[in-house]
Amino acid sequence: MRPARIRAVSLSDYSSVRAPAPRKGVHLPQIRIRDDTRHALPVVVAVVVAGIVGLGLAVASVVSRGLGWNDVAGICVLLAAATVAEAFPFPIEGVAAGWTSLATILLVAVAALYGWAVAGIVGFLTMALVEVGRRRPFSRVAFNCAVYVLAGIAAGGAAAGVADGTLLGLVLAAASAAASFWLVDITLLAAVVSRSRQTPLVRAWRNYVLSTSVPFAIMASLSAILVVLWNRSPYVAVILVVPLLATALYQRWIHGALERLREFDRLKDEFIAVVSHELRTPLTSVYGAALTLRQQKLDDQRRNTLLDIVSTEAARLGRLLDDVLWVSRLDSDRADAFIDRVDALEVVTEVVNGARTHLPPTLAIEIRHPEAPPPVAADPDKLRQVLVNLVENAVKYSGAGAIKVSLEPDGNRMRFAIRDEGLGIPFDEQARIFEKFHRLDPDMTRGVGGSGLGLYICKGLVERMDGEIWVESRPGRGSTFVFELPLAAV
Ligand code: ADP
Repeated sequence: MRPARIRAVSLSDYSSVRAPAPRKGVHLPQIRIRDDTRHALPVVVAVVVAGIVGLGLAVASVVSRGLGWNDVAGICVLLAAATVAEAFPFPIEGVAAGWTSLATILLVAVAALYGWAVAGIVGFLTMALVEVGRRRPFSRVAFNCAVYVLAGIAAGGAAAGVADGTLLGLVLAAASAAASFWLVDITLLAAVVSRSRQTPLVRAWRNYVLSTSVPFAIMASLSAILVVLWNRSPYVAVILVVPLLATALYQRWIHGALERLREFDRLKDEFIAVVSHELRTPLTSVYGAALTLRQQKLDDQRRNTLLDIVSTEAARLGRLLDDVLWVSRLDSDRADAFIDRVDALEVVTEVVNGARTHLPPTLAIEIRHPEAPPPVAADPDKLRQVLVNLVENAVKYSGAGAIKVSLEPDGNRMRFAIRDEGLGIPFDEQARIFEKFHRLDPDMTRGVGGSGLGLYICKGLVERMDGEIWVESRPGRGSTFVFELPLAAV
């Protein structure tokens, strides 16, 4: 069941629909939000002016008519409930009009029970309290408040037209109040969205009607139930709180679950794209070298060069597949660490010697360590993998200079640092490079390929060994990747 209403959507709501936050590794075109808001300005101004006039008339009517203490108490309770409901909106799957709140049910009840003027004022107060509390920009607060004032007045007017003092009249009053509230809300939303997007009003309006009609029908029936119960006794109406609350919580939960599923799906697509791209490059080289070796008579030097290409690219394929396996183990929680006493210097030396075998002539690599460093509590395979990834990155991302791998005990931890004199990493990217698939140069304009998995794996492995990893870097001045692991117990 989806009792809900369409929340009055402001320009900022709309802007956020057009300009979602960029996701990892996905580069969205810049959207000129200012242009959108400028187009919608006439609608916003008209709605705000109409809202101010409506609110003035409502206040004048209430002042001249006066209210009894019982009415004031009932209105205050409904106002408080509407404000709380408005402050905790929830998303409804398939509804295009942003998040919804149950406040409409309460505002419609106010309109059917206390008339248009009170509904306009309560609509204003509900929205104003919530929006001011959220410190939203003034234009947004004004627009959203005006929408609630106008929707509340329309709902109260419609209810007064059909109420005849009977039970059926009360139900019909609630239903027509709900329909009016919904129509005003949706029409103003469609107007602002169609102006901003420069699309036909009728199309936007039809879309919103279609996507919100089911929640509206449920909201209207809940409003009618609330009005009938409240009319009997406001105390009895309190029993509606439980199903309403349960519905809101359930919607939030289901939305969160669906969002997570979408994120998995997106990651899967990204994974397939990145891995196929990374597989294609070495395969093409191996295929080209194999064809040349088969088809042509080659001298020894050329033949050896081609065989070097085959073995280097095959090793690259192997590393990529290793990365994929590590990611799969980490993501499915199958990367348990088997902690042992490990001679860190021995592992570092092994990794550095391995890197020296294919070091470009412009690069040098050295190890710095204290005399007889104490053993660390680590999983040797995982420690080796982390060091291999970091040393290979230092080679890949520094064209020339010295790479220093250092070991240094620090309290009850061992600090490993891999320092290069390469490209460096901008400050605002330093946390993101540890995310899966995140690359600073996704289009490979610098010609350095990679899957964006290496640092994600390093972080996962270090954390599984109770360690910590981070980077210190200044663009153009090189980077130092540092990780710490516990020392082995004496
Ligand atoms: P990959 O190297 O396969 O792209 P990583 O996860 O190892 O993936 O690294 C993620 C990104 O972090 C790299 O694409 C690169 O932009 C940046 N990076 C990693 N190491 C360094 C380094 N030593 N110097 C500069 N940038 C680096």
